[in-house]
Amino acid sequence: MIDSALLSMLQTHDHILCTSHVSPDGDAYGSLLGLGWILRYLGKRPVLAMQDKAPKEFQNLPGIQEIVNANAVGTNYDLIVALDSSSIDRLGTVYRPELHQHIPLVVIDHHVTNTYFGQLNWVAPDCAATCQMLVYLAEALHVPLTGRLAECLLTGIVTDTLCFRTSNTDARVLEAAMRLMQGGANLAAITQRTLNQRSFNLFKLWGLVLQHTHLEAGVIWVTVSREQFKRAGDISSDGQLSSTLITAVEADISATFTEKLDEKGRTMVECSFRAKPGFTVGALALELGGGGHPAASGCTLSGTLAEVTDRVVPLLKQARQRQLEAAAQGVNTARD
Ligand code: 5GP
Ligand code: MN
Repeated sequence: MIDSALLSMLQTHDHILCTSHVSPDGDAYGSLLGLGWILRYLGKRPVLAMQDKAPKEFQNLPGIQEIVNANAVGTNYDLIVALDSSSIDRLGTVYRPELHQHIPLVVIDHHVTNTYFGQLNWVAPDCAATCQMLVYLAEALHVPLTGRLAECLLTGIVTDTLCFRTSNTDARVLEAAMRLMQGGANLAAITQRTLNQRSFNLFKLWGLVLQHTHLEAGVIWVTVSREQFKRAGDISSDGQLSSTLITAVEADISATFTEKLDEKGRTMVECSFRAKPGFTVGALALELGGGGHPAASGCTLSGTLAEVTDRVVPLLKQARQRQLEAAAQGVNTARD
């Protein structure tokens, strides 16, 4: 199932730079650290790099203190591995084409929207997490699924499936998780640290934004301004609010629009989309320059909150309407 060229690339190269995506989540950290432990078991000394700092819930993951930022990334590698990243821009400032494009790039990812931006691409949309792919990779390389490796990989599977609740959770996901638990990973502790904890300030933020929740034509959405983040206190993320909004029985699609500044100080908006089973938001995110999965996707657009919501909400409503019509005609669009 795994291309032997990929296995031999990992086995034969020594100076390997591994990285994952900006705004990292549990699968980004789990897969980056997990590959680090796999490569160390094989006797290599990989460099692990990430553009953004680790959020609190991942700061205890084994090996996280060894991740370097983009400034510490050099040019002296004989292989680069990009994890859980659907396109090259997702690597942020870690990957700099002028310094790195002569180095072979391997992509290991599970996004259906992957652009195949490496020289060698292992893309498995049938896997619920990149960490699930690394379970198979470890087995192929005869690396035991125990200890720190098992903890990192189970973290990515638990967070990307919202603890086995997403519609792509199948028997293979459970089987991979079971093997990691048999290797010593503690499911209850991982769930507690990653999914079951929210800061008080997050509830303050949700209080500020949820009073302005919109629901129209099966689409539920909120906007989150920088001012609201500031008023809620020391807080850096909206706690995956789109995943909570999609639980509204009246909605088939949810969205959050979060105001951010880019590195040049210009206003941009991070869009996060979710879809109920039977609906899809992956294709729309891709059309808007982002990516993701059928049920969870996103993109980043320039413009103010008002401009971006005025542009995107009608597209979400149209997408839902088209999918309802296609379903009525018996066409399945929920795979894009
Ligand atoms: P979230 O809504 O949790 O930030 O992201 C959901 C999914 O969409 C993830 O798989 C993530 O990789 C993808 N995604 C979110 N934002 C972007 C983006 O700006 N660009 C791309 N390519 N994918 C994104
Ligand atoms: Mn993932």
